[in-house]
Amino acid sequence: MAAGTSDSGFMNKIIERLKGLREDGPNKSDPAQNRVRFSIWYFIAAMLVLVWFQSYSGGQQTEKISYSDFKQWAREGKVEDLTVGPEQIIGTVKGEEGKPARQFITVRIEDPELVGQLEQKGIKFSGYFENKWLGAVVSWMLPLGLFVFIWFFLMKRMSGGAQGVLSLGKARVKVYGEKDVKVTFEDVAGIDEAKGELEEVVQFLKEPEKSQRLGGRIPKGVLLVGAPGTGKTLLAKAVAGEAGVMFFSMSGSEFVEMIVGVGAARIRDLFRQAREHAPCIIFLDEMDALGKARGLNPMGGHDEREQTLNQLLVEMDGFDPRAGVIILAATNRPDILDPALLRPGRFDRHVAIDKPDIRGREAILKIHAKDVALSSDVDLKKIAAMTPGFVGADLANLINEAALIAARRGADEVNMAHFQEAADRIIGGLEKKNRVMSPKEKEIVAYHESGHALVAMLLPGTDPVSKISIIPRGIAALGYTQQLPTEDRYLMTRNELLDRLQVLLGGRVAEEVIFDDISTGAQNDLQRASDIARTMVMEYGMSERLGLLTYTHTPQSRYLDLGLGSNEREYSERTAQDIDEEKSRIMDEAHQKVLLKLKNYRDRLEKLAKILLENETIEGDELKTFAEEIRVRASAVSDGP
Ligand code: ADP
Ligand code: MG
Ligand code: ZN
Repeated sequence: MAAGTSDSGFMNKIIERLKGLREDGPNKSDPAQNRVRFSIWYFIAAMLVLVWFQSYSGGQQTEKISYSDFKQWAREGKVEDLTVGPEQIIGTVKGEEGKPARQFITVRIEDPELVGQLEQKGIKFSGYFENKWLGAVVSWMLPLGLFVFIWFFLMKRMSGGAQGVLSLGKARVKVYGEKDVKVTFEDVAGIDEAKGELEEVVQFLKEPEKSQRLGGRIPKGVLLVGAPGTGKTLLAKAVAGEAGVMFFSMSGSEFVEMIVGVGAARIRDLFRQAREHAPCIIFLDEMDALGKARGLNPMGGHDEREQTLNQLLVEMDGFDPRAGVIILAATNRPDILDPALLRPGRFDRHVAIDKPDIRGREAILKIHAKDVALSSDVDLKKIAAMTPGFVGADLANLINEAALIAARRGADEVNMAHFQEAADRIIGGLEKKNRVMSPKEKEIVAYHESGHALVAMLLPGTDPVSKISIIPRGIAALGYTQQLPTEDRYLMTRNELLDRLQVLLGGRVAEEVIFDDISTGAQNDLQRASDIARTMVMEYGMSERLGLLTYTHTPQSRYLDLGLGSNEREYSERTAQDIDEEKSRIMDEAHQKVLLKLKNYRDRLEKLAKILLENETIEGDELKTFAEEIRVRASAVSDGP
């Protein structure tokens, strides 16, 4: 066909280009890069072929004309030959003076007279069967083939890469598998409670058979929960060091990779290696990066993390703790962990690592000051006293900073002034992060917590107070009063609820009694107290005035907080007023009772707050003795006339 001529020239150019490429291909120095470049040229060539094909079949030289023009030409005898297709007619017009023969195309219209007219003018015409198969090949099989080709090309590159990453995963575990861990419990201070709880794990790792014979339940997974820098990683390592076993450690962020499947492969590999080296410890640091609750991601699922997490769950389930492998994990956000991780048989044991109190800080300072030349005026106790809220990492940093300052001043020993300067500097940094309390705030918190504790001690029905602390824990709480058992109860009586209400109000009322002023620190307490009052009236039928009717119909909403049905109200305006009045009455009565108690025991409140300000925490025997005194005095009062 006439149209082919210029196209084939174009095609030749491409072929030449390709030939040229193939020729200079092997001369390139880097074979790997060469291969990639070569493949990309394949791709470009394929694209050009496609473009050429389209222009060929579309026919750039072909003139589109209307059917009436075509009839006109046919009548005038200008048409040379015709090919009649099912939908179109392609033909050639005779060349006129100066003009070469041209191709034209027109749409086919149902025209019974056409054949007669063509025969009359002596125009050659032919038809063809539409080759559907060929059409399909051209119009979509070819692009499809192209995509398959690209996909294949990418997959080949990916699989090559993934293999590299997989072996990298192996290598990383090997690097992190430490054989002779030098860290022991002696290097960890100020978190004795957590240390005590992990003692059992050490015992088990040291003598697995003995522990099993005695029938002790062996923990499978232990979750260390604590603020950053409190020594979670250090403690996990110390467990391995104490027990003299291998320490396999990986950080949650290392599992979350860009390439799907790698994290899961690493988990598998980690567990396989650990099993080979049992007894040993697997330590998963920064668990929150990996164990974030599925479905918490606002951007939709994170396939990779989910896969990795699932793999971890599978490995943990298929694990026999008697094999001698114990899994430790650390997190500072236990609240966002996937509940599946916390189920029995997984990380069902939690060890809380609190920020150290004044005595703990002194002990930590002592450890880190060992290798530093201290001047005789340095009093670690004093330094501990001026660094409330510091965690182990901050204290290690403090010593380091003080030593640097001393070196800069050209001193031979680190003295108190150096420490003071270092502390000021670090506190400045921490203040920006809102992690340091002023002395006034500390005093308020001390009285607040003492108020909670004292009210609890005065109410015989409540759980005993096990620890009071004014060291900030977590994000919101400035201090805390711990009552054991802390788990939720299945049933609570009305009196127990009222007692709990009083304990919650204790903090706020203590501020009222002592300072004649109140702070914002009680907001969470008041919210919980209001919740109790509200549910007593609206859900538990514990108000005589409103009787046994309940006024909410979404029992689930208390846990899931879906906000469902909260807009619907199935009671009258008057009942609503009654409910409000009853809630207020319950709160007011509790308030009055607490006020009376704390006024009567003001001296005890002050004593407790004073101890707290001095030591920052009270627990154990000291607390028991205190509570006992209160109980004796309280019963003497109530037995009296
Ligand atoms: P976390 O893992 O809780 O964030 P790390 O264990 O990484 O904290 O602690 C960082 C560093 O701080 C440790 O290497 C250690 O030098 C110091 N440190 C933290 N807590 C303690 C502690 N309780 N006793 C001694 N040193 C500590
Ligand atoms: Mg850590
Ligand atoms: Zn409180």
